[in-house]
Amino acid sequence: MLIPPISCAANTNRQQSNRHASFPVFGQEIVTRLMELGVVEIFEPGAFLFLRGARDVDMFVVVDGEIEIIEKIGQMTGNTFAVLGRGQFTGELDLLDSRRTLFDCRAITRSRILRINRSMLRQIIRSEIEIADLVMQACMGRRSDIVRDASGGVTLIGHKHSADTIRLLRFLTRNGHPYTMLDPSTNADANSLIHSFDFQQAHLPVVLLGDQTVLRNPSTALLSDELGLTDVSDRTTVYDVAIIGAGPAGLAAAVYAASEGLSTVVIEGNTPGGQAGTSSRIENYLGFPTGVSGQELSDRSLAQAQKFGARFAISRDVVTMRREKNIYALHLEDGEPVTSRTVVIATGARYQKLNLPNYERFEYQGIHYAATAMEAGLCLNQEVVVVGAGNSAGQAALFLSQTSKCVHLLIRGERLETTMSNYLIQRILSSRRISLRVRSEIVRMDGEDCLQEVTWRDNAIGKIESRAISNVFVMIGARPRTQGFCHDLAVDAKGFIMTGGAVASESLFGTNLEAVFAVGDVRSGSVKRVASAVGEGSVVVSDIHKYLASTKKADSAYSVPARGVVPAYMPAVMQALPQGF
Ligand SMILES: Cc1cc2nc3c(=O)[nH]c(=O)nc-3n(C[C@H](O)[C@H](O)[C@H](O)COP(=O)(O)OP(=O)(O)OC[C@H]3O[C@@H](n4cnc5c(N)ncnc54)[C@H](O)[C@@H]3O)c2cc1C
Repeated sequence: MLIPPISCAANTNRQQSNRHASFPVFGQEIVTRLMELGVVEIFEPGAFLFLRGARDVDMFVVVDGEIEIIEKIGQMTGNTFAVLGRGQFTGELDLLDSRRTLFDCRAITRSRILRINRSMLRQIIRSEIEIADLVMQACMGRRSDIVRDASGGVTLIGHKHSADTIRLLRFLTRNGHPYTMLDPSTNADANSLIHSFDFQQAHLPVVLLGDQTVLRNPSTALLSDELGLTDVSDRTTVYDVAIIGAGPAGLAAAVYAASEGLSTVVIEGNTPGGQAGTSSRIENYLGFPTGVSGQELSDRSLAQAQKFGARFAISRDVVTMRREKNIYALHLEDGEPVTSRTVVIATGARYQKLNLPNYERFEYQGIHYAATAMEAGLCLNQEVVVVGAGNSAGQAALFLSQTSKCVHLLIRGERLETTMSNYLIQRILSSRRISLRVRSEIVRMDGEDCLQEVTWRDNAIGKIESRAISNVFVMIGARPRTQGFCHDLAVDAKGFIMTGGAVASESLFGTNLEAVFAVGDVRSGSVKRVASAVGEGSVVVSDIHKYLASTKKADSAYSVPARGVVPAYMPAVMQALPQGF
């Protein structure tokens, strides 16, 4: 795909003007301010500022001259993604964490370039609002350009109904990583690549990284590492707060904790966003009158948390949690511990499954627990089944009805009124593409390599119906994710973590274990909503401050941060920042 390079002078059409929003220009006053905080370097024409694949690359501001951001295909130079002139700067989301850069950058003309190192950049983002806004706008905008154009991304070759292909596709999509998907059943390029790399069908799916490294059916943890999405390489830091789970509750806790100066690490077993990240459209979250996709909410929250310095370990489950000398050690799947003075458990809930023979065989090869644009793309103009009578099932049915031939919405009860919001019911009843099947349940699923036929029964009259359907969306509620690492925690009869008065904790979110808090869906008595999860995640941070302040004498590394008085990049304030930032 040929991507037109952008230069700061050109502004001729809408797409270019959108791209201009991603490439702001620092005015002379800002450049002068920044000159005191960085180092000026000279680059001759053709000299590289950085190479694709590098981590922790500094930000470069063009003082004079012109540089270009270029894609690489294998060892070959590909498209020019952007041309940057005076006052413009390099970087995208890779400025906020340690992910690998997707592009090379080299000087076109002899250029005077200001290098701002990353630790200084973090100080600037925290203290200089005007600069922070421009940098954040550029980071988010450039990443969305990159994902849209699949620039600098990976190539995923696999059959679209294969469970592993869908797993990798979902991982890339939900982590906002650019990719091109090639299905050998329908795409000639996929077959040429299979031939030229000498892959067997058994190797599929394969991921070709930008440098042509081949990953054969990689685990999501391996892919995450190869892409550089895991940001916690230094395991010696003792954090003020470790948050387990990056759903709305965990992300909110991360934003508030990091913005209030606590050194913060978030460990996420899968991809940030949690259940909310799988929702195509959240319509009842305050401030979004036309709704917001879970993915967008999660991308924005992640960037916000990273902007304040929170660290993320993506695709790593916490498997054990132990306390020694007032420090918790959280062991991740890779065996390495992350240590912290306090822990926030925000592990949410996991989807319930139907009790049917063959069920596991078709999971992710026809059975889905989320209905986003990615899943909708798998069943364009086909019939689909949605099972469930709650709001998530209603949202899924409506969303899928926009692109599917027909949505059969199966509910066991007689009516939707007791379980679904009225606005969803009205839309479902007036949709010509949704067929509501009351008192009905699936009794069989059949297929060879993937799901091909679904059979359900109308329990009122005993009528059995089979249809050629390859995609079933199961939305029948969720159970708390308190397994494994949480053995010593007090839980209620359904397994939700008990907090507050129920376990004699002074904090509403305190558990029976000292310095361990629980927020969001995993907490007993919580309201299972995005807004309440976000609320709990933000409020718990004040209890963490109280706890850390109470242990201050025993642990002198923590100091209640003074906020907003002196610019954070002043040396005295830098020394006062908690470690890990
Ligand atoms: C399809 C769908 C649509 C929805 N729509 C709406 C809506 O429109 N409005 C609304 O208000 N609510 C909606 N909800 C409910 C809402 O999404 C949840 O209430 C909310 O996401 C709960 O947030 P949470 O952070 O507590 O948990 P979760 O969102 O469940 O996030 C928990 C995170 O923890 C991670 N995790 C779990 N165990 C571990 C471990 N051991 N180690 C590391 N990480 C771990 C998980 O991978 C997950 O990312 C919807 C839910 C679904 C499923």
